[in-house]
Amino acid sequence: MNFYILTLFPEMVKEGLNTSIIGRASEAGYLHIETINIRDYSRNKHHKVDDYPYGGGAGMLMQAQPVYDAWNSIVGRIGKKPRCIYVTPQGSTFTQKAAKEYSKEEDLILLCGHYEGIDERVLEEIVTDYMSIGDYVLTGGELPAMVIVDAISRMVPGVLSNKESGTSESFEGNLLEYPQYSRPEEWRGKKVPQVLLSGHHKNIEIWRRQQSILRTRERRPDLLEGAQLTKQEQEWLEEYNNI
Ligand code: SAM
Repeated sequence: MNFYILTLFPEMVKEGLNTSIIGRASEAGYLHIETINIRDYSRNKHHKVDDYPYGGGAGMLMQAQPVYDAWNSIVGRIGKKPRCIYVTPQGSTFTQKAAKEYSKEEDLILLCGHYEGIDERVLEEIVTDYMSIGDYVLTGGELPAMVIVDAISRMVPGVLSNKESGTSESFEGNLLEYPQYSRPEEWRGKKVPQVLLSGHHKNIEIWRRQQSILRTRERRPDLLEGAQLTKQEQEWLEEYNNI
């Protein structure tokens, strides 16, 4: 999958995405992550890309022309107009479901804002999707873009090895993942749950599923409402509640 990230801080994005699993997947050719420096498309002799907002108010705005030309350089080169995500606190909240959907795209453009944001007119021209990573305001779109690229990349076939498989992770089937343990069997007086040492695969599977349900109910009851529990699981949960 190809990611094109339009930013004023390409080094920050490159640094953030060239290590560990994502870095390895890029080296292996499963991902192509390219940063495009919007400043390179400034027509100002001082490479300025921002100006005061009309009507007054605090801060500066990124101007339309350099953003448009940077976007156009990709579109011209690859010969198509991929979906273009503007990362903004004003977007819909990015979720695992959205990550899965985006991972089906061959190409994706991400636009990072800075200062007070970007001139609305260029957004109207090039942006197809508005995505937020949460209800708070960051100084720039670079961290959100990295978060989004990372989450999508994990869904791209080949990026995770079998060992790192994402199939039983949190949010699958609207449940959080069950608690996990590694060696030693006892640490600071805390023992690994007996069932995990039993070697009984069916019982382990049932225990994990039950733990997922309990954990989701405790930490994210909003998610549990959308989870598909079997009749048996519903009965078990009722019984558990009555203990
Ligand atoms: N003035 C803008 C507003 O109130 O909506 C906020 C601008 S913010 C200081 C600068 C840039 O950071 C935005 O253009 C956006 O690209 C990015 N940004 C900040 N918070 C974000 C969030 N929660 N999700 C995604 N992007 C965010």
